[in-house]
Amino acid sequence: MPVHVQTCGLVLDILLIYFFLRHETVGLFSERIFRMSLVVNTVCVVLDILSVAAIVFRDFVPGILVHGVCKLYLVSLIGCSYMGFLYTSNDIRHLREDETFNRVIRIILGLGAFFVLMLPIDYYHEGNVVYSHGLATGLTYVIAPAFIIGSLVLTFTHGKYMNASRRNIIRAWMALEILAATIQFIFPQLLLVGFGSAMGLFILYCELESPEVYLDRTTGIFSFDTLVIYLKQMFAEGRKFVGIMVCTNDEWKMDNEQESRILLEISEYLHSFGSAKLFRCSGNDFMLIYDGEEYEKSQIESAINLDVIKARFGQPFDGTMMIDAKFLYIPDARIATDCDEYLEICRINKDEMDRNEISRLLDEESGSHIRQQRQIRSEIVEALAENRVQVHFQPIYSIEEQKFVSAEALARIISSEGKLIMPGLFIPVAEEYGLIDQIGERVFEITCRTFREKALKDMGIRYLEVNLSVAQCENSRLSDIYNRIMEQEEVEPTSINLEITESSTLHYRNILLENMNALGRLGCSFSLDDFGTGESNLNYIVDMPVQIVKFDRSMVQDYFVNDRAKTVMRATVAMIKEIGLKIVAEGVETKEQLDAMEELGVDYIQGYYFSKPLAEKDFLSFLEVKNKVA
Ligand code: C2E
Ligand code: MG
Ligand code: MG
Repeated sequence: MPVHVQTCGLVLDILLIYFFLRHETVGLFSERIFRMSLVVNTVCVVLDILSVAAIVFRDFVPGILVHGVCKLYLVSLIGCSYMGFLYTSNDIRHLREDETFNRVIRIILGLGAFFVLMLPIDYYHEGNVVYSHGLATGLTYVIAPAFIIGSLVLTFTHGKYMNASRRNIIRAWMALEILAATIQFIFPQLLLVGFGSAMGLFILYCELESPEVYLDRTTGIFSFDTLVIYLKQMFAEGRKFVGIMVCTNDEWKMDNEQESRILLEISEYLHSFGSAKLFRCSGNDFMLIYDGEEYEKSQIESAINLDVIKARFGQPFDGTMMIDAKFLYIPDARIATDCDEYLEICRINKDEMDRNEISRLLDEESGSHIRQQRQIRSEIVEALAENRVQVHFQPIYSIEEQKFVSAEALARIISSEGKLIMPGLFIPVAEEYGLIDQIGERVFEITCRTFREKALKDMGIRYLEVNLSVAQCENSRLSDIYNRIMEQEEVEPTSINLEITESSTLHYRNILLENMNALGRLGCSFSLDDFGTGESNLNYIVDMPVQIVKFDRSMVQDYFVNDRAKTVMRATVAMIKEIGLKIVAEGVETKEQLDAMEELGVDYIQGYYFSKPLAEKDFLSFLEVKNKVA
C-alpha cells in the first residue's frame, strides 16, 4: 500500500502535538488556531491513509464506507488549507474582527464541504498508483488551493499589518503546500499533500508557535511581549480578568548571576501560587492574571491571598537578599478600555506609590484619571500635527522706563472643537508623555517668528521670555536645537530670555548648566521662574547664571499677609539686587500691589493689572496703544 509518505506526515504531526502540549500555553488566538491546525492535519493524514486502504481493498469493503472515507478525506483537505487561511487572516486585526468577512469565508468552507460530499467520485488503483478523481475531487482541487493562494495574497496585500518574520514564514508554509499540491496534481500517484502540510506546520512550530517563543529566557515564565499580546486579545474578546502586579524596586544592587537566581526564585514562588498565568513585566516586575471567565472571583480570592505573598516578600530571597516589593491589585480589568491603558494605569500607579505604601487597589477611579490624561495627550498630538499650538503674549512693564519692554510667551492649544486649552492642563501631560520637547520647540519657533515678522523691536519690545520645562533642560541637545531655530527664524539670541525652574538632581543640573552656558555664550539671557514657590529658591540663584528673578504670584500676595512677610521680602529683594539681578513681579492684579512692588524696588511688573496674556493680534494692538508706537 503506497502510504509511506503519509505515515511520515502522521509521525511528524504526532511529534508536533506531543511537543506542543508539553508546555503551558497562554491561549493566544494564533496558538489556538495552530492547535486546531495540528488536529485537522492529523485527521487529514489518517483519513488519507484510510482512503488509500479503502480504495486498495474496495472489493472487500462496503462501497458506502469507501465513499465516506474518501469524501471525508477531501473535506479534511479543504479544512487544512482553511486553517492556513484562518491563521493568516487572524494576524490582521481588522480582518479578525470583521464579522462579514469571516462569515463569507465560513460560507465558502461550508458550501465547499457540502458539494464535495454530494458530488460523484471515482477511484483509480493500479499497482502502486492509488487516487480518487471525479467532480468531488476536482472541486477539492479548486477550493483548497483557493484558500492557500488566498493566504499568500493576504501576506502581500495586508503584509504591513504583520511582522516581517510572521509574513515570511506564512509564505514559506503556503509555498510548501502549493508545491506538494502541484506535484500531486501532476503525478497523482505521489500523495504528498498531507505530508507537505505537516512539514508546513513543522516550520510554523519551529519559527513561530513553539511555546518557547512566548517565554522569558531568564525565568521561563511568559514574557512581557506575550503579556501585551495576551492582554490585547483579552480586551478584544471583552473577557473579564483579575490582575495582580508585583512590582519590585528596579534598582537591585547585585551582580547579574544573583539577579537571575532571585528572579527565578520569585517566579517559581509566584508560579506555585494559584492557577494564574504568570508574566514577567518590564524591569523586574511580575504580573499574575486570572481569566475571570474561567474562575469565579471568590475562587481567585481564596486561591491568591495577597497577604501571604506580601509575607513572603518580607523574607529574604537567595538566602540573604531582601526584595522591596509593592503590589497592585486590579479586581476588574474594565478600569481600562485596552491593553495600553491597562499597562499605563499600572505603571503610573506604581510610580505614584511612595515608600510607605505597600499595596494599592486599582478601581474605576484610577482608570478615569488616566483616560483623561490620555485624551489630553491625543489632543496634544493632534494639535501638533494640525498646527493648533498657539502662543499668547503677556506684556511685561518696566517701572523705570514706564513702558512695556518685554512679554512672556505662553503656550495655548486650540482643541479640535475650537476651545482654548490652558497650559496648566496640557504641560504636565506633555511632560509625562514625552511631548514637551515638541511643544517647547513649536512655542519657541512661533515666538521667534512673531518677534521678527511683527518687528516687535520697533514697538519697544527688547526681548521675549519663553518657558523651558525641566524635562527640556535635561535634554543635552537643547542648546543646538534652540540655536538652529533662532538662526532659521533670523532672530538675535539677545532678543530671547529663557525661563527656567529648579531642576531636581545634580546630574541633570549639569546638563542644564551646559545648555545655559552654550545659549548664554550666544547671547540669550535667563530668568528664574516661580521664585518663592517650592520650585525655585534662594540657593538656586547662587549656582545658576540667571539675570532675572521672577517672583511668583503667591509671593506678591504673601507680601500683604503680615509685617514679617514684608520684612523677609525686603531682605530678599535687597539680596537679589546686590548680586546684580533684575526682578519681575508676576501676578500683579491691583494698583495696591503695583505700588507695593514699586516701593519694594522690583524692576518689572507682569500681571492682570496691565494685561492678561493676549493673542498675537491683540498683543500688537496693545503695544500700539500703550507704547504709543505709530
Ligand atoms: P508661569 O511661567 O509662571 O506663567 C505665568 C502664569 O501666570 C500664566 O498662566 C499667566 O497667565 C498667569 N498670570 C499672569 N498674571 C496673572 C495675574 O495677574 N493673575 C493670575 N491669576 N494669573 C496671572 P498660564 O498662561 O496659564 O501658564 C501657566 C504655566 O504654564 C506657566 O506658568 C508655565 O509654567 C507653563 N507654561 C506656559 N507656557 C509654557 C511653555 O511654552 N512651555 C512650558 N514648559 N511651560 C509653559
Ligand atoms: Mg513663566
Ligand atoms: Mg512664573
